[in-house]
Amino acid sequence: MIIVPEKEISGLMTRKDSFDAIKKVFASMSKRTAYNFPVIREAIGHADALYGFKSGFDRAALNLGLKSGGYWPGNADKGLTNHQSTIFLFDADTGKVRAVVGGNLLTALRTASAAAVSVAHLARQDSKVLGIVGAGHQATFQLEAVAEQRDFERVVAWNRTPEKLASLEETAKKLGLPFESVSLDELGTQADVIVTITSSFDAILNDTQVKPGTHIACMGTDTKGKQEVDAALVARATVFTDEIAQSITIGECQHAITDGSLAEADIAELGAVINGDHAGRSADDEVTLFDGTGVGLQDLAVASSVVDLAIEKGVALNVDF
Ligand code: NAD
Repeated sequence: MIIVPEKEISGLMTRKDSFDAIKKVFASMSKRTAYNFPVIREAIGHADALYGFKSGFDRAALNLGLKSGGYWPGNADKGLTNHQSTIFLFDADTGKVRAVVGGNLLTALRTASAAAVSVAHLARQDSKVLGIVGAGHQATFQLEAVAEQRDFERVVAWNRTPEKLASLEETAKKLGLPFESVSLDELGTQADVIVTITSSFDAILNDTQVKPGTHIACMGTDTKGKQEVDAALVARATVFTDEIAQSITIGECQHAITDGSLAEADIAELGAVINGDHAGRSADDEVTLFDGTGVGLQDLAVASSVVDLAIEKGVALNVDF
């Protein structure tokens, strides 16, 4: 069995490797050669934590396994990441455990890659202003990954507590992009691409605040009850997702589905766009929205890439198990 510890991941996985792995697995899901198993996510009644499993099987890539972990909101005070996760891969021919891989950085990278893949396939080519809603742990990863997809000229951002925007500002500076902390009205009027990455349980961004032609990647809603944007905005947009079953139950679409303003049949898979089975954006003034719910197959895809890289670079620990 191979172990790739958390501390090795940053030296192994590049944004490009992550983007490629996520694009490939979304395509595989849409071709039905890969499927996710039902998600288990529980409030465990301790430390305010949400804990669970995401798992699946990619028959084309022979990636079988699960990510175990969740969200511990008090971790930041202990100097730890709020998200804690570990990925387990199994040999698809024998069921023997193949690898255990640190999943914290990989989760941030694969989540940012999902937004980046959506921007690559759905945002207007002439997008110039990138808007970020949220400034938690995931936000800088989102900014770095999405900024690579278009010739952005500046970044505007909003967070409930504006002083937390400092890390996003620093990242924008590193990328050579001017940065401005703005109101939600200003963000919606200016941004061509918006990423929402918060743990909110109420709509933050309203339909009326978003201009025509915007692409929105809703990345924070991954649990029943969470919500980042107005259901009317979801209903107005052409909606894409990683997986429809998750989108309508634990993703951003759950609210528009519940109030009847969106039907399941209105939601397309991003993988279908990647495969050329869906045209994607059809007009410059169309609002496109990607509901990135986060699927287990994303974790398996990036973990499998990391195992290959760790073996290649000689940093994989081999344990007789
Ligand atoms: P974090 O705790 O570090 O940051 C949380 C962010 O949400 C902060 O910016 C905070 O200000 C904001 N926020 C919280 N409640 C809010 C409210 N009521 N109104 C406005 N803003 C609010 O979390 P993180 O690690 O950055 O993760 C952000 C979200 O992304 C979480 O909900 C997490 O579950 C989700 N997530 C999704 C995926 C996926 O694949 N879709 C993957 C990882 C994380």
